[in-house]
Amino acid sequence: MHEHLEDKHGREVSYMRISVTDRCNLRCTYCAGEGLEFIPHPDILRYEEIMELMAMARNLGVRKIRFTGGEPFVRKGFADFMINAARRFTDMDLCVTTNATLIGPDVKRLAEAGIRRVNISLDTLNPEKFVTITGRDHFAAVRENIDRCLDAGMALKVNAVAMKGVNDDELGDFIEFARTHPVDFRFIEFMPVGTETGWEDGRVWTAAEILSEARAFAELVPVTKSGERRHGPARMFDIEGGRGRIGLISPYTDHFCSTCNRLRITSDGNLRTCLFSDRVYRLRPALRHPALGMAQVEKIIRLAGKNKPIGNELLRRMRASDHGVCKTRMASIGG
Ligand code: SAM
Repeated sequence: MHEHLEDKHGREVSYMRISVTDRCNLRCTYCAGEGLEFIPHPDILRYEEIMELMAMARNLGVRKIRFTGGEPFVRKGFADFMINAARRFTDMDLCVTTNATLIGPDVKRLAEAGIRRVNISLDTLNPEKFVTITGRDHFAAVRENIDRCLDAGMALKVNAVAMKGVNDDELGDFIEFARTHPVDFRFIEFMPVGTETGWEDGRVWTAAEILSEARAFAELVPVTKSGERRHGPARMFDIEGGRGRIGLISPYTDHFCSTCNRLRITSDGNLRTCLFSDRVYRLRPALRHPALGMAQVEKIIRLAGKNKPIGNELLRRMRASDHGVCKTRMASIGG
């Protein structure tokens, strides 16, 4: 058994997010926008390479892997890959973050293979606004696929990026949705990641504002189960008399760096240790090198894991110098 990954700040790294593609079928204004250049196919990690990385991560103590993108289901064979991964890594918690436009035909077999938890990104319940935000007319498909996932018994987190002037007029509708559906509806503060996203301080609809405004629509009861917050960044609330819950994720105003346990791998095999940092560790050259291979990849991951920064310090420096935190767009990191 290998020694588990722990960083200099005593945080145990047990969660890995793996982006399987930087391509997406939506063009969300706050994430990527139009006019994108994508990573050439040969530079994208093959599914077999991702499996190798997962096996190594498991030896280092990683227990949870979330696949993300771009949009994971845009990549050919993604559902098959995830089902194979679920069969092979039965002791790991495998989940996926998706815009839910394409998952429909695969829901049943994913659920049967043991994929029980899906995060769905949805920033509006208004079909016209969906087109304005995402640049594409896929709201009906997303809504239908949410119902399909629920019918298949999946536990759903529906995540909305909270933006003033964009979706802050829908709070009552969001709460009603969570009251009538068995989902965790979570608001994520708009983060200053990427350069073309129109981010500015005044557009961040903060968790504190959402909570105080939400109380006008429903009685919210904090979920205080022990451990609920330790490995999850969301503060959760039950809705009195409701089926679902509301959650607040506040990376901008109330960082959760002290409990951050995650590493990110981009689709071209770069390791990132913090969403707010542009520093990357290149795994692909070692992974594909005939003499170096996984042993070298493991060394790099150990070194990177040790040096995982405190994102909030980076954020503070950004505020002081008034430039963006991370220049890479979210679509190529994976959120
Ligand atoms: N396509 C998938 C999806 O839509 O969930 C996975 C990739 S997407 C980049 C992952 C998450 O990042 C989504 O929930 C998205 O809303 C979020 N995201 C993108 N840009 C963001 C930003 N600037 N601030 C906060 N969240 C952001």
